[in-house]
Amino acid sequence: MQRSFARAFTLPSENSDFNRKSTRTVDGVARYRSARGEAIARRLTIAAHSCGSLVALGMADMMRECSSPSNVWTATDLHNADGEAFDGVGTLAACGSRLCPSCSADLRRRSRRRARMALAGFSLRAGELYRFVGLTTPTVSDASLTDSLRAVQRAWSLLRKRKFWLSCVRGGIKGVEFTVTTHGYHSHIHLLVASKWIEHATLRAEWSHCLRVAWSEQGHGIVFNTPTGEAIVDVRLIRAKHRGSSRVAVSIDHALQEVSKYVCKSESWDAVPDDHLVAVAEVQRWQRLFEVFGEMRARVGEIAVAQSERATTFLDTQDLSDGNLSDGAQLRIPYPEQPIKRRNARAPTLRTLMVDLDRQAWLKILAARISDRRAHRRTSLSLRYPCARFRSLSGDVFVGTALRSSLAA
Ligand SMILES: [Zn+2]
Repeated sequence: MQRSFARAFTLPSENSDFNRKSTRTVDGVARYRSARGEAIARRLTIAAHSCGSLVALGMADMMRECSSPSNVWTATDLHNADGEAFDGVGTLAACGSRLCPSCSADLRRRSRRRARMALAGFSLRAGELYRFVGLTTPTVSDASLTDSLRAVQRAWSLLRKRKFWLSCVRGGIKGVEFTVTTHGYHSHIHLLVASKWIEHATLRAEWSHCLRVAWSEQGHGIVFNTPTGEAIVDVRLIRAKHRGSSRVAVSIDHALQEVSKYVCKSESWDAVPDDHLVAVAEVQRWQRLFEVFGEMRARVGEIAVAQSERATTFLDTQDLSDGNLSDGAQLRIPYPEQPIKRRNARAPTLRTLMVDLDRQAWLKILAARISDRRAHRRTSLSLRYPCARFRSLSGDVFVGTALRSSLAA
């Protein structure tokens, strides 16, 4: 017997975040993200100067542009595919940094969408239920954030190949989160899985083993300061009628929020030492912090293909390239006076330019590129949301194509 997810659970609306907010709150969110982003960029600039990191300095420049009041917009009368109107907030030219409050909110939103896609239509088999699993790793005081994230990723890749894991878990969604404590970074994994019964003590022993291997590969010995002498793991049922979370069960809404939370809240960066902030800004490729795995993964592929076929009429290249954007790594731009001759020549990335060019030349190219991207994004937003009215925090207004026509008539 198979039970589809749709029959067993009601998924929260994709725009539920925005539906809960009034226009005034959306404005508050935009102002908050802008101010926080500018503050983090200022701190990163000082830290990057003091340690001479050109990449961190360039990333700070990009984040400052991304968070500037002329780049952050709020909008009314955006419509989703079901015709529901909602208010929104976003940026014109995105920097893509994990440190940026606007861009990390965007990453969270994309992850939630992928998680919803993964669940839609997924069917449980006899003996299976949806479960919410937490896997933690002890804080290692001299480990950097990147060490900690790498160890937790490595331990995860070991666990998912274990016979025990494969025998009870058929697929799921994974999110990695970290918090900052006075002793160091605390990374943990949240999982939403479709599984048979998971024996708690076995999971704890298996995960502890994987953590020991992962940390020792990085030259760190770990100690579990727990009564059992093993890692802390947590398994709870996901129940359709449950609200929030309790010791035994969580709601589907809660599980989805947790797996798509991403690295951390922007406030957490305040507690990160300057040199680690630079290290985070310098990370070129983040490991897969969010992923859909096992049989749920195949499902996302099918739905994504079906949706992209339906959506091509209003998607444009800008939106597609935004979808690939991560930490500036995929933003490729040509040198202005050197048009690329070979068709497949790779344009230097912004990351390359921020290192290779002198500061004045870099800032000039960045300003030109940001200006192009903003113009392009305004056009694509007004096509995509024809009835909407957008306003940047600096007061610039632009409207959707339909609204523009009706205003002109
Ligand atoms: Zn940004």
